[in-house]
Amino acid sequence: MVKRLVSSLSITFAVAAIGAWPLIYLGIPFFSSWAFLTVLQFVGFYFYNEHVSRKIALQEQQLLLAHEAELSKQTSEVTCPCDRGVKCFVPINLNDRNEYVCPGCKKDINVIVDLKTALITTPILEQPETVIKQTILS
Ligand SMILES: [Zn+2]
Repeated sequence: MVKRLVSSLSITFAVAAIGAWPLIYLGIPFFSSWAFLTVLQFVGFYFYNEHVSRKIALQEQQLLLAHEAELSKQTSEVTCPCDRGVKCFVPINLNDRNEYVCPGCKKDINVIVDLKTALITTPILEQPETVIKQTILS
């Protein structure tokens, strides 16, 4: 960490010195042009790092959205009707045909989605004797 910081500062100061050297011939003092170029590099690095950080954050958000989209897909574990009975997870889309290729027998398999209905019930939290007494008394 310290070694990297020292090497980075050395490179920055060297680049500033190389940039300030020709400015001596224009009558600009070396130290002031060197200091200006050093500060200019720090400002440039700051904006470059901001740009890279925002770009990485944008890519992370895009990956997160793609991940959420993949998670929102419905999948089901199905068993191939072949003799091997290979099980695999298949994405299910109710608006489309659900086909896949069995990894065991390499045949095209169609998934038939069978919808059923069920009565919604509420669990009885009381003791059974209490429920029977209330039923008899009412
Ligand atoms: Zn199969």
